[in-house]
Amino acid sequence: MNLPYAEPYKIKMVEPMYPSTRAEREAWLKEAHYNLFNLKSQQVFIDLLTDSGTGAMSQEQWSALMSGDESYAGSRSFEQLKKVITTLTGFPYILPTHQGRAAENVLFSVMVKEGDVVPGNAHFDTTKGHIEFRKASAYDCTIDEAADTTLYHSFKGNLDISKLENVVEIYGKERIPMIIVTVTCNSTGGQPVSMENLKAVRNLADRHGLPVIFDSARFAENAYFIKTREKGYENHSIREIVKEMFSLADGMTMSSKKDGIVNMGGFIALKSQALYRETSTFNIMFEGYITYGGMSGRDMAALARGLEEATTFEFLESRISQVHYLGELLREAEIPVQEPFGGHAIFVDATRFLTNVPREEFIAQTLAVELYLESGVRAVEIGTLLADRDPETRENRYPRLELLRLAIPRRVYTRNHMDYVAIALINIFQRRKQITSGYKINYEAPIMRHFTVELEKI
Ligand SMILES: *Cc1c(COP(=O)(O)O)cnc(C)c1O
Repeated sequence: MNLPYAEPYKIKMVEPMYPSTRAEREAWLKEAHYNLFNLKSQQVFIDLLTDSGTGAMSQEQWSALMSGDESYAGSRSFEQLKKVITTLTGFPYILPTHQGRAAENVLFSVMVKEGDVVPGNAHFDTTKGHIEFRKASAYDCTIDEAADTTLYHSFKGNLDISKLENVVEIYGKERIPMIIVTVTCNSTGGQPVSMENLKAVRNLADRHGLPVIFDSARFAENAYFIKTREKGYENHSIREIVKEMFSLADGMTMSSKKDGIVNMGGFIALKSQALYRETSTFNIMFEGYITYGGMSGRDMAALARGLEEATTFEFLESRISQVHYLGELLREAEIPVQEPFGGHAIFVDATRFLTNVPREEFIAQTLAVELYLESGVRAVEIGTLLADRDPETRENRYPRLELLRLAIPRRVYTRNHMDYVAIALINIFQRRKQITSGYKINYEAPIMRHFTVELEKI
């Protein structure tokens, strides 16, 4: 028999979780107005709300915290971090920020102006937010195959080069400050971008003299998919692939809460000294001095180590195998899931799961509530609540897909936890026909309503 994969770490410190009763969960959820964001973490058994900042640090990261240098300027911990980032990416200029959206805020303050158009592959919401806040617009150039959950494509994060070419033709390169490539593409379900595609984007950018910036939160997961799916990369190390990926960009923004395996942090890394100098001014205004930018010395030290661990094959294999293990359990039970499985989460197609709930009653949210009541597992709706209302008509915007996202924190849960989540969903799947109604809204904020919405059972 082939040996199964096993986590390449053991547990030294444990954090208790409380396995509540169904009656308790019913009461808590009612108090929370059926919005899972309103739950207290102690009321959640297994928390799959997000993989952002929820990972477990290694013993080496915890010891790095003790060696942090808290000097205002020229901190040794900054030098360590810079050395690791430059070695991994080849970028010589580094600016720390307090998280990923802060990196976007600082860099876009230099690069993006009113009327600009920023093409990319399904921009992440904060990225889009920082573009639109500057009265510019994001233009989605993802390949059409990404939209079909039943279709297999190894690189559903890829950009459609002819769409990209069209954007340049329509708007002119003067209005395009950069092309943003998100690796892996969070908004299409943690789907990777191939090296071939990154090269094609670079080629197009060079022909038009455009900079390419990678939104890099899950760059190491992307490298893992290139190694395991793209011809010619089987024998390359993760770090060789990472280096080659970034050699095709002019700079990057990073949310270290993902592949940095820390609980808070971010950074910008750049090739050009001129751009670095301009960006530094905004970093000092918004984040902090250029050698700490919103991070403590100790946190930079832990991040330096986290980046090294995240770019090992052993870590990535274990991480992604765990996510795919959960996906396979669900697929075997014939639960409709998005395929191929992404790097950081499994997405359940709620419309094909709860076929008797009308879409006006928030299908994916109904499934999220059912899962919590059944098991204490918290997942998140990626559906109509998140899609919000049309700013003009104020009507609900119904997205193409109603998804329930199960995001897996790094190195936090075991295979037993994955089994538990799968069985909870299978139980609901078996009685899905009896679930015929959902929820209605009692209160909602004018924008970003999903965080604070209050619901009532119909
Ligand atoms: C999380 C994320 C961000 C924003 O980072 P924060 O650290 O949450 O501010 C930007 N882009 C992508 C692709 C992300 O996943």
